[in-house]
Amino acid sequence: MRLILFGPPGVGKGTQAQILSQKLNIPHISTGDMLREAVKNQTELGLKAKSYMDRGELVPDDVMIGIIKEVLSSEKCKNGFILDGFPRTLPQAKALDEIFEELKIKLDYVISLEVNDEEIIKRLTNRRVCRNCGAVYNLLIDKIPEDNKCPRCGGELYQRNDDNPDIIKNRLKVYRESTQIVLDYYAKKGILKSINGIGEINTIAQKIFESIGIKE
Ligand SMILES: [Zn+2]
Repeated sequence: MRLILFGPPGVGKGTQAQILSQKLNIPHISTGDMLREAVKNQTELGLKAKSYMDRGELVPDDVMIGIIKEVLSSEKCKNGFILDGFPRTLPQAKALDEIFEELKIKLDYVISLEVNDEEIIKRLTNRRVCRNCGAVYNLLIDKIPEDNKCPRCGGELYQRNDDNPDIIKNRLKVYRESTQIVLDYYAKKGILKSINGIGEINTIAQKIFESIGIKE
């Protein structure tokens, strides 16, 4: 099964990707991981990507697309994959189609996790991170002691600077503006599955499985 996963920040995309990956026995490939691996392995494209990253610039499309092509044609992706973080623009989506064509593989589904802004803002503004061990908690779900110490290690819990409503709203706006056109593209192909991302982790996973014809 070959999938692309979309979801705004704070929607729990990483968790669902992990569940899908285990269930379908296919790798979860995020653009971040792919880049890090290519840089670490010092591939030609990895070194090229690094030269941009070192200057604090975005890795250009042709380099990123080359890296994705290498990964998708590798042994670990022969039974499928869950692609995460790419494509973000229409030209990238079209370039990806060309890769699929070259590799003679077919994209099965594009899964989009949908959560309204209000819910994401609620989730992210209630997020607390441990300064010591990095554990992430949600004040709405997790039991945090009154002294505001990490239940795991006793470290101090804090709120990340970018977990404030205005910054979150802006991130969501950027996400929606850039991805809507890409989602429309896949909707026209008839392979887009939009899933309501609010609820229990396992319930959402169940909805994803059903939408792509997988029985529990
Ligand atoms: Zn801790």
